Amino acid sequence: EEKVKRIDSATDKARAREKDSDRLKVEENVFDVPTLKILYTLSNKGIIKAMGGAISTGKEANVFYAEGDEKELAIKIYRMASSTFKAMDAYIMKDPRFTNIRNNRRDIIFAWTRKELQNLKRAKSAGVRVPEPIVAEKNVLIMEFMGEEKKPYPLLKNTPLEDDEAKLVYNKIVEYMHLLYKEANLVHADLSEYNILIDPADKTPVFIDMGQSVTLEHPNAREFLYRDVLNILRFFGRYGITDKPEELLSKIQAE
Ligand code: ATP
Ligand code: MN
Repeated sequence: EEKVKRIDSATDKARAREKDSDRLKVEENVFDVPTLKILYTLSNKGIIKAMGGAISTGKEANVFYAEGDEKELAIKIYRMASSTFKAMDAYIMKDPRFTNIRNNRRDIIFAWTRKELQNLKRAKSAGVRVPEPIVAEKNVLIMEFMGEEKKPYPLLKNTPLEDDEAKLVYNKIVEYMHLLYKEANLVHADLSEYNILIDPADKTPVFIDMGQSVTLEHPNAREFLYRDVLNILRFFGRYGITDKPEELLSKIQAE
């Protein structure tokens, strides 16, 4: 009994150490010298007033809180060392906006970062609620911070909703998908409860994470849209939303 406990706590400690060293590795990875130089330049320009803590460590990027000139900022930094740029490749290379990108890791990550900025701009102009994009410099994207008291708004996934609230959120998401499609000529391509924040004040959704969003000319745009549709319907099924994929698709593609 005692022995088992000892072994348990030893493994816990070892795991904690491992996690710590993972985190250090990630931070080492994200703040390489060229990235530090970019942050330094952006702070000299007065765009960044003070760097804050880490908000998230994702598969490709880290997101940090920062204080800007007048607004709070979210700084998304694509890791040069560990981005799965092979996956990025398939999205970038077939996008008519990015036909002359050279096939190397650096350029693909930089193009990806610019693409996310442009996608956010197009979405915003179309009337979709997204973080306001501010600047993209190499692998660093600066945008408006969506949250309060230095904490990001919760993900849709972690937001408890009554059925009638869920219905309103769903309708707003459908409106945003329609605006993206018709006005911005874009498909989000990674839309799910993990890439939608909910503003607790009025329960409005905020779309985030648009690096992979593609224009309708992309050869896989329909397939990506269909996947987004299935994700949204899967999530809202639990709230009694019974739209069929074809119904949601026709709402998105309506004039
Ligand atoms: P993952 O691999 O976890 O999906 P990601 O690399 O795709 O991460 P995002 O989804 O864009 O990156 O952002 C990760 C997290 O950072 C979000 O879930 C959100 O909590 C936070 N975040 C991103 N952008 C903002 C923003 N503009 N304001 C506040 N929080 C943000
Ligand atoms: Mn994400």
